[in-house]
Amino acid sequence: MMPYIYRCTKCGAIYYSATSIEYQLNKNCEKCGGELEQLGEEGELMKKEEEEKEKEDRKK
Ligand SMILES: [Zn+2]
Repeated sequence: MMPYIYRCTKCGAIYYSATSIEYQLNKNCEKCGGELEQLGEEGELMKKEEEEKEKEDRKK
């Protein structure tokens, strides 16, 4: 099973979890207490990054 990925919206820390954010008891960053956002499965995140890179390339 692919892990869920969360990113702190405040400090950018990345967290992995086997459960969806709906079932997380602690929805805040352990480091700074900021709100976590779910990024989806690992594959989705990588795809997102690739899309961002493509956009950057088009700007040049
Ligand atoms: Zn944080």
